[in-house]
Amino acid sequence: IVASIGNLNFDIYLKVSELPGPDENVEALDLYTGGGGSAANFAVAIAKMGLSARFIGAVGEDPLGEISLRELRAEGVDVSFVKRVRGVRSGVVVVLVHPDGVKRMVSYRGANLGLTPADLTVDKFAGVKHIHLATGRTELILKAKEIAREIGASISVDGGTALARKGLEIVRAAVEGVDVVFMNHVEAQLVANAGDHKSAVEKLARELKVGELVVTLGPIGAVAFKNGRLLHVDAFKVNAVDTTGAGDCFAAAYITMYLRGRDLYERLLFANAAAAIKVTRPSARASPRYDEVVAFLES
Ligand code: ADP
Repeated sequence: IVASIGNLNFDIYLKVSELPGPDENVEALDLYTGGGGSAANFAVAIAKMGLSARFIGAVGEDPLGEISLRELRAEGVDVSFVKRVRGVRSGVVVVLVHPDGVKRMVSYRGANLGLTPADLTVDKFAGVKHIHLATGRTELILKAKEIAREIGASISVDGGTALARKGLEIVRAAVEGVDVVFMNHVEAQLVANAGDHKSAVEKLARELKVGELVVTLGPIGAVAFKNGRLLHVDAFKVNAVDTTGAGDCFAAAYITMYLRGRDLYERLLFANAAAAIKVTRPSARASPRYDEVVAFLES
């Protein structure tokens, strides 16, 4: 079982040709809703890889939370340990999408913030071989590291912009001893305070005491740093229509190969392929199944 800790959201996408001014109303050209939240997306991607996925997070006692949980269940994700927080709404993200593809997001974290370190108890991790944290909340990361040590599970962290914004000192303490740390190049440059991704990766490789550091580079692919060795694998050339959730899909595919004991090159190759398939499809949860990635690599 792979446990994923962090946010679950209900995403509302509104396509607009212009933004409303103060007290103004504009007509949306299109509406799309779907499950989101990085940790939940990761859990779905893991389930699609054929592994057992457990999501550990929190929802409110509202209809949107119920819908979000139902969607996870339908994807085969175990949600039996999800916390219900009273008197708060479940997480919602409203995304305004301009026809040229530019997105403007408003996030309501709501019940997600109700998950506390005290909720991360060993009983919720029975049978878990790997713990993934898709959250920038260092208190959750620190507690999960304790649990992972206690149960002998491996652990990965994708802290996103929220963690990167906290700066190098805090990131270093939070991820120390973690097996795999994921960042995109924007986050890596932010943490390292570097002008380009190469110097960012070099600096982070020196500064962070982690098993492996993986930095995704969008259409350029990804790099991994492990045991003094830096490896870059190109992205696949595809027609990208929606990159939402590409990083979560990448991380899930990478962890799948990590748990299968594949080498660094195979992990990066497989994860790039999985994420390439994902970006050709709309929706944050449109990650591919394991056999789809294998077929893509053989084609
Ligand atoms: P995030 O979605 O977290 O910001 P990236 O933008 O770096 O992360 O994308 C994650 C991965 O998705 C990349 O490493 C790459 O494998 C894949 N990817 C993203 N954009 C494209 C693209 N335009 N073409 C092919 N692969 C892509």
